[in-house]
Amino acid sequence: MKLERILPYARQLLEKAISPGDIVIDATLGNGHDTVFLANLIGPNGRVYGFDIQEEAVQNTKIRLADNDLSDRATLFHTGHEFILENVPPVHHGKVTAAIFNLGYLPGGDKDIVTHPQTTISAIDQLLDLMAPEGIILLVIYHGHIEGAVERDYLLRYVKQLDQRLVHVLQYQFINQKNNPPFIVAIEKR
Ligand code: SAM
Repeated sequence: MKLERILPYARQLLEKAISPGDIVIDATLGNGHDTVFLANLIGPNGRVYGFDIQEEAVQNTKIRLADNDLSDRATLFHTGHEFILENVPPVHHGKVTAAIFNLGYLPGGDKDIVTHPQTTISAIDQLLDLMAPEGIILLVIYHGHIEGAVERDYLLRYVKQLDQRLVHVLQYQFINQKNNPPFIVAIEKR
């Protein structure tokens, strides 16, 4: 298939947005796969700030970073991404070049603990202040479970009304596949 699949496309966008030394955010640590990907892109002089409400996710991510010798590139917070603004140090405000939200539940974990539209939207609002010009926020939206479908609807309504003078918003989605596979919303600050 020539068309890029969803998760590789998300990573391509991150690769485009991030340079060595950058400040980036993993808004949903989960099992830490994205954190490791980001930590490799920012190099030894960059920083990843990571958030998750589950201690299990923070621990999984710590282990994955250590296994890859990347622990010194990340600061992990056991708290919700709706508290991004107060946790990212002021010296890095306006300097964040990329942020990723992999929404839904922790794979292999408690499927009742999911992301919610109110807190996701609050985090995006805060991030729009934290981002550098041309910084990219990626939302990978999983809408195969009931709460995911509700979150999708809220998020699409929210991103569609963002001022086009301030941000570009892209939706990247296969629209003829069964079982509601994930899709991407990318928000680029102008
Ligand atoms: N990016 C992860 C990876 O690479 O393995 C997968 C993330 S998983 C799909 C979603 C995660 O979001 C779960 O670990 C869940 O605990 C977390 N989460 C739910 N609500 C959150 C919130 N308000 N702030 C931060 N994380 C949250």
